[in-house]
Amino acid sequence: MTEQRPFADVPTQLFIGGQWRDASDASTFDVLDPATGETLATVASASEDDARAAVDAATDAGADWAATAPRVRAEILQRAYELMTSRSDEIAELIVRENGKAWADAAGEVKYAAEFFRWYAEEAVRVSGHLQTSPQGDKRILTLQQPIGTSVLVTPWNFPAAMATRKIAPALAAGCPVVLKPASDTPLTALAVAHLLAEAGVPAGVVNVVPARRSGIVVKAMLSHPATRKLSFTGSTEVGRALLRDAADQILSVSMELGGNAPFLIFDDADVDAAVEAATVAKMRNGGQSCIAANRFYVQSGIYDEFAARFAKALADMPMGRGLDRSMEVGAMINTAAVDDVTKLVAESVEAGATVATGGEPSAGAGAFFPPTVVTGIERGNPILDHEIFGPVAPLVAFDTEEEALELANATQLGLASYVFTADLARALRVSEALEAGMVGVNRGFISDPAAPFGGVKHSGLGREGGSEGIHEFMETKYIAVEW
Ligand code: NAD
Repeated sequence: MTEQRPFADVPTQLFIGGQWRDASDASTFDVLDPATGETLATVASASEDDARAAVDAATDAGADWAATAPRVRAEILQRAYELMTSRSDEIAELIVRENGKAWADAAGEVKYAAEFFRWYAEEAVRVSGHLQTSPQGDKRILTLQQPIGTSVLVTPWNFPAAMATRKIAPALAAGCPVVLKPASDTPLTALAVAHLLAEAGVPAGVVNVVPARRSGIVVKAMLSHPATRKLSFTGSTEVGRALLRDAADQILSVSMELGGNAPFLIFDDADVDAAVEAATVAKMRNGGQSCIAANRFYVQSGIYDEFAARFAKALADMPMGRGLDRSMEVGAMINTAAVDDVTKLVAESVEAGATVATGGEPSAGAGAFFPPTVVTGIERGNPILDHEIFGPVAPLVAFDTEEEALELANATQLGLASYVFTADLARALRVSEALEAGMVGVNRGFISDPAAPFGGVKHSGLGREGGSEGIHEFMETKYIAVEW
């Protein structure tokens, strides 16, 4: 592993119409390693003209791609899966360097990301419509699924590979060409994925990637392009809301995977060993920088003290450091601003009466490091409960009854993931049904699966990614009235 000029062969230009090119105005931006603060690479920064050119290139390639046999599209996706899997170490290293996460998190992400190619290779050949006789018997009602067309994809920095493949794979399987605008903090992984897709046989123009320093104007240029048909966005609720407004002008179909504030409920009858292990995964995967990260722990009074002590010990024992050292379990946060945010949240929660059981202060020295932190004695109304923490901080709240736990869990406008721990199956299912969230983990802290529908309710989003649902976000239903 060379420390000098890592990834000399990773592309740093825009990828438009199958060509690697500089920005039309020659502008660039630097990508930093969050673990050291050093510049990793300088990447082309798309202009509005480049963004429009990418939509043009996608649209030009779209008709042929839509007409390509599903089996052929599936075989290309399968090759992408194989290529990504065979290069998993290389891609994991790229993710560690530009995102800062721990090695195991990066390696897990590559596997998860590649699985979207395999899953949608399998789904590409399973799209069907239906035929029925009209109630009046005067005609047949024939419906079929058609690709929606040119799709703009916008992704966040926390899973630079998986958030891209979770959109690209179903779009390609459905027969849609795409333009991806990756997060400005982590464009290198997306460019590497585009390179790999070209090698897998994706025709020129079907996948385009436009990193940009000024995301707002570049995305706006694509959403106002008359050929764009779809926006699939993953990111914060705040930006998602603004993009929904922009998408309204062109009546675009939208899929929105937005922020979370996941409650993690632990009842007195839960297996505490299993709950601690799962809570550690649900909180600490990706250093807590995950939209489905457990954000608020509600623990029934009978096991509160035991759980708090054991959970704090488990988190305190996690080694933290640069992800290139594979023995580290906690990597860097995305940047020092993120460290400042969680530092402030912990200080505010303490001011409101809580106690830090472990962690709580940023680490000294270079890099954006904040230690795993448990804050106990959180009361209703503590400001930390209203924030998507997006870092390694776990606030613990005590509750007495199931009714109270549900009321506390649902007291938010966000509704992405949620978790429940109990040995009582009836309670597990009753609580799962009552939780206002798109996803529930029952006696599990890890729920992501390419074969399952991922998405939120309330302000956490619109639509689903993954599963058999995901491909339909990139398709439209056509009805044909037939007489024979
Ligand atoms: P973000 O909203 O700041 O950015 C997401 C993407 O939008 C990036 O590509 C960014 O460059 C771009 N962007 C930013 N401002 C924009 C603007 N004005 N116009 C157009 N594009 C703009 O989010 P982030 O900080 O990258 O990611 C963290 C957020 O993403 C968290 O809220 C997290 O919960 C959410 N997230 C959700 C899911 C999910 O599946 N629901 C998955 C991962 C992350």
